[in-house]
Amino acid sequence: MHKYRLISKKGEGTFSEVLKAQSVKNGQYVAIKCMKNHFQSIEQVNNLREIQALKRLNPHQNIVRLQEVLFDKATGRLALVFELMDMNIYELIRGRKNYLSDRRIKLYMYQLMKAMDHMHRNGIFHRDIKPENILIVDDKLKVADFGSCRGIFSKPPYTEYISTRWYRAPECLLTDGWYDYKMDIWGLGCVFFEIVSLFPLFPGTNELDQIERIHNIIGTPEPELLNKFKKYSSHLKFDFDTKERTGVATLIPHASRDCIELIEALLTYNPEKRLTARKSLLHSYFSDIIEAERRIRHPKLPPSHQMGSPSGSDNTRYDSRKHQHRRKHDKSKKLPTIRTRNIIPAKPPMPSQEIEGLPVIMSKKISAKGNTSRKYHTNKDWRKKKKWYGNNNQYHLNSQWPQ
Ligand code: ADP
Ligand code: MG
Repeated sequence: MHKYRLISKKGEGTFSEVLKAQSVKNGQYVAIKCMKNHFQSIEQVNNLREIQALKRLNPHQNIVRLQEVLFDKATGRLALVFELMDMNIYELIRGRKNYLSDRRIKLYMYQLMKAMDHMHRNGIFHRDIKPENILIVDDKLKVADFGSCRGIFSKPPYTEYISTRWYRAPECLLTDGWYDYKMDIWGLGCVFFEIVSLFPLFPGTNELDQIERIHNIIGTPEPELLNKFKKYSSHLKFDFDTKERTGVATLIPHASRDCIELIEALLTYNPEKRLTARKSLLHSYFSDIIEAERRIRHPKLPPSHQMGSPSGSDNTRYDSRKHQHRRKHDKSKKLPTIRTRNIIPAKPPMPSQEIEGLPVIMSKKISAKGNTSRKYHTNKDWRKKKKWYGNNNQYHLNSQWPQ
């Protein structure tokens, strides 16, 4: 019996093709990420950064949920089964004539910031933050594609492929891999701008053009900072024209002051002075969401401005200690204004259709053994997994298929 009925192509990235599919067993729709690379063993698969990172970061309401790993040892093909999302942020804004509402932008950015904070606090940085890797369904947002991620405590220089040029931070462009988790924050600033404006902020055509475009808007940084980068660089002359900062405000005149201030704080040239995700969540731009969350949790408390809390005022920053306390005791998983709806009615699966270009992994092999995945080999293995996942038994990673 086929385990999943393939329905259509959902997306394509540098390393994979993503297909929409439906579980034959329970009718649930999923996204199956079929990797272009082939793998030799289950150990190699389990060592993949993408899988390791997802294991560490799941479950979180703003990180895409990995449900299953399908590995066909005979062909070396690997597919990751994820919860199905509607579209990516690029698809949301592409060709759009009207701006997104302030409320929607804020909800998306809040969730993106929460995902980023969760990643960074768990020692992982993404390294490929861009609209294509951020997925949405209705008002919910989740970060996907951990294929390029690294551990925060791993040591630079990082020499392998990193983020798409347009979203690349200055330290990545200028040095030979001497960057850290703050590069994600730069990418986040670029994405934030793009969601507001509906066009990319720095669409560089090559690395030099990319740097120039950044300097045109953010301004050429002080010589001390450039000299610091120069020490870690061998591929650039560092003879940049001096450009005055113009800022992003004129490019998005319809955006609020808070919004512009936060975007600019995220796009701070010096990574050491760039905001963290945690601090961004405390920015006054988000104060109404935080206040709404607080009122959901403590409906009997009066509005915080009546309590003299700094969060009550539009112009003041959130009290970080209170906020931390709130996070610790945060039992509600949902934002107050996010609608949840079952977008995909569970229909009984239809007979399999032939779809051109489908990867072999999904076809005959599965029928040979039937529904054979999700086996833990010994009780000891299972105990290990339980420890790893806590008692949350909904993740069936490491399932070797077919046996
Ligand atoms: P790659 O590592 O090859 O870039 P991604 O994980 O970014 O692969 O996926 C490629 C594209 O597939 C995404 O840009 C998105 O459009 C789509 N996609 C990925 N995961 C899902 C999902 N869970 N639900 C819906 N679409 C997805
Ligand atoms: Mg991708």
